[in-house]
Amino acid sequence: MPLINFGRIQAASSEVVRDINRRIVLNLIRTRQPISRADLARVSGLQRSTISLIVEELIAENWVLEGPTGRLPRGRRPTFLRLNDDRVIIGIDIRPTQIMVALADVNGKFSSQEALPTPSTPKIAIEELINRIQGLMRSCRGKKIEGIGITFPGRPNAGHLVFAPNLKWPDVDLCTAIGKATGLEVELENAANACVLAAVWFDHMDSCRDLAVVTVSEGIGTGIWMNGQLVRGRNGMAGEFGHVPLDPDGPPCSCGSRGCWEVYASNRAALRYYHESISDSAGLSFADLLSRADQSDMRAVQAIERMAHYLGRGMRMIVAGLAPERILIVGDLTRSWQRFGPIVESEVHARVLASGCAPSLVPVHEDGMARLRGTVALVLQKHFGAALELADGISGQPGRGRRVDSAGVSVVSNVQAKK
Ligand SMILES: [Zn+2]
Repeated sequence: MPLINFGRIQAASSEVVRDINRRIVLNLIRTRQPISRADLARVSGLQRSTISLIVEELIAENWVLEGPTGRLPRGRRPTFLRLNDDRVIIGIDIRPTQIMVALADVNGKFSSQEALPTPSTPKIAIEELINRIQGLMRSCRGKKIEGIGITFPGRPNAGHLVFAPNLKWPDVDLCTAIGKATGLEVELENAANACVLAAVWFDHMDSCRDLAVVTVSEGIGTGIWMNGQLVRGRNGMAGEFGHVPLDPDGPPCSCGSRGCWEVYASNRAALRYYHESISDSAGLSFADLLSRADQSDMRAVQAIERMAHYLGRGMRMIVAGLAPERILIVGDLTRSWQRFGPIVESEVHARVLASGCAPSLVPVHEDGMARLRGTVALVLQKHFGAALELADGISGQPGRGRRVDSAGVSVVSNVQAKK
């Protein structure tokens, strides 16, 4: 029987209790809006008086608005509550060739998006981004900007870009420079991890406790959600399956190694296969290659099929190592998933271990929005609670999860105690 070290246990203070309940109520409003106070009490298991206190506080802080009045056969008509969409977030998605700067409200609805070519140095990029952000700040006077979320194809550590081989930028502190110039808090996250947050936050995949996201673009990124939480690893470097060498004698990779998975299975790989088969193909983009395949250019079809084979083969590493329930695929390839998806699936399913289960592969048809939606979740999770709390406590099942009653007594129901 495990021993409990009581010396290391701290009782929850009343502030912690209040904070947990507040996050639970805020999340219930977010996921179930419009919702009445009575329904909040019923779904959360909290007392009506506790709900009233928290809701009044959230209204006073402009997080929540009172909406339309509902209809009931008899009795008092309930007033519905919803999130205040005058609270906004600036989202930035940095890619090797293009940067997107966007403005979204707390519900993930985007009101503006603009694209700019990715500058060659981070210094120029920071100056350009500060200009665009200040422009957005001027355009949304009267609204409360919650912060800035940035995603990029690499790994962050303490606000720095520490590993971004496809961006070809050195280690740079993006957050401090942008935060100082704008007065806003800046959150930085790997693009695939941001896609994980978007799936959990906006697509209600919080019931899936083990999933992976594979982003397929210039390189290959992987975000891992295991046991209901994001896996970061030492120095935030977990998930670099794209840089596991499949053939140490293979073509050179941007990371300095050779024959990495992404050298064979990224958009760039498909373009290389195509260039090898036809000389007159300079300046072609992956979107052009997909269009050529649609127009029955058999060399384009074969190039993408080869990429799809390698994509599936590499995913076997994720399946064998992590046993996810689902793998979400983000990238231009999903536009032609009906044609090329079965190749990826057959490769993944061909080598599942005897006692293992093949995950379902889910293409995310998002037109480049998954990363930007992830930036919104990245900023908001500070107020709404960590994703783990969401998955465990706010799964949408009445009475399930952790809640704290008005007397400050912690209650855990139907949830396994965390280790
Ligand atoms: Zn590599």
